[in-house]
Amino acid sequence: LSDRLTETFRNLRTKGKLSAADVDGTVREIRRALLDADVALQVVKEFSARVRERALSDDVNKALNPAQQVVQIVNEELVGILGGEQRRLAFAKTPPTVIMLAGLQGSGKTTFAGKLARRLEKEGHTPILVAADLQRPNAVNQLQVVAERAGAAIYAPEPGNGVGDPVRVARDGVEHARRQQHDVVIIDTAGRLGVDAELMKQASDIRRVTQPDEVLFVIDAMIGQDAVNTAKAFQDGVDFTGVVLSKLDGDARGGAALSVASVTGRPIIFASTGEGLEDLEEFHPDRMASRILDLGDILTLIEQAQQAFDEEEARKVAEKFATDQFTLDDFLQQMQQLKKMGSMKKMLGMLPGMGQMKQQLDDFDEREIDRTEAIIRSMTPAERTNTKILNGSRRLRIARGSGMTVTDVNQLVTRFEQAAKMMKTVARGGTPNIPGMGAM
Ligand code: GDP
Ligand code: MG
Repeated sequence: LSDRLTETFRNLRTKGKLSAADVDGTVREIRRALLDADVALQVVKEFSARVRERALSDDVNKALNPAQQVVQIVNEELVGILGGEQRRLAFAKTPPTVIMLAGLQGSGKTTFAGKLARRLEKEGHTPILVAADLQRPNAVNQLQVVAERAGAAIYAPEPGNGVGDPVRVARDGVEHARRQQHDVVIIDTAGRLGVDAELMKQASDIRRVTQPDEVLFVIDAMIGQDAVNTAKAFQDGVDFTGVVLSKLDGDARGGAALSVASVTGRPIIFASTGEGLEDLEEFHPDRMASRILDLGDILTLIEQAQQAFDEEEARKVAEKFATDQFTLDDFLQQMQQLKKMGSMKKMLGMLPGMGQMKQQLDDFDEREIDRTEAIIRSMTPAERTNTKILNGSRRLRIARGSGMTVTDVNQLVTRFEQAAKMMKTVARGGTPNIPGMGAM
């Protein structure tokens, strides 16, 4: 018995496994959807290779239908790349906690500085903003406005007093914060429109003299395909401990999140979602994964793939009916499918002239499937392929093996033979006359 069980399970496992063609088709759609969501090509390639590998491996969840399996794998991989668990801001053991911001000009650093200060105040901290962006004429002024709106303190260079050296302003700002007993220092820095060596040197100098607990790389979620190069340049030039994804409101599809997290391996900590001070959210990898899935319409695409899969199955089954190759193994597989995804109705619906049978299937009893399964599993491969060899002693052995009566076995065999005959007529284009279809 145990040999046969092993055999049966091996069969089930291969049946539950996705075919390479199923997986390739679905992965192709996922690639397209991710590219539509602005995920960088390189990341999309790596990602789909991994999903393909996993979907074809033995580690798929057999309780799910093929489409659900792919969705689950895609979702898990997305969440994994996005950092898995939500990562919170790290605070220093001895205050002040120093948080330095880095990123291109216009990425949203100054806006984020205000939002973060506001949030920290609400949580009972005493943050101070440090204006270390002396590049743009109006930058200090802008931070002053932001600080005022956020109700936060600010350290800015006095005009004519050491102006021009952002590294020194940053260092003095941290000293000032320590003296004034602010427990968090947020250093706003300058950006360029593009990555350049001078910007990187300045930022890495600021990092060196202030020894921040967090260096947050702020990146515009709308940046699209450029996200990878920008993130890499900042990682090489300054390095950072976490990412802030800004402008995630509006049309941003979040692809940048995946690109940045994937190429840098750094966690995304916050999402900035608007111009208002309150538009700040902690970043949740699982939510972003569903956002990316939704926005790429991947779920719809997968449903379509699944439908194609069902149609293909139905076509194969119809072919078997027509050519008399329909066996109890196929019957069992149908039963399992029926239980797993309720698709037999759908498949029967695809065959011509199956309307009335579909109706009967609506009253289908699931326990009946279990009994049928038990009986078929107690049969040898030869018995499943050819019911004609089922003599009395074989039927008795099967009944004992499955815990059913010989009458149960007889009924199943009769039903199967009737169904196969009937289906053959249908598949060849005739009109079926269905006797005793109650339990098929
Ligand atoms: P910085 O140069 O990196 O300091 O960028 P800013 O903070 O000055 O932001 C540049 C522009 O983007 C400003 O017009 C901001 O109002 C806008 N901005 C910043 N963050 C967001 C956001 O999350 N959503 C939207 N819609 N706009 C933002
Ligand atoms: Mg700024």
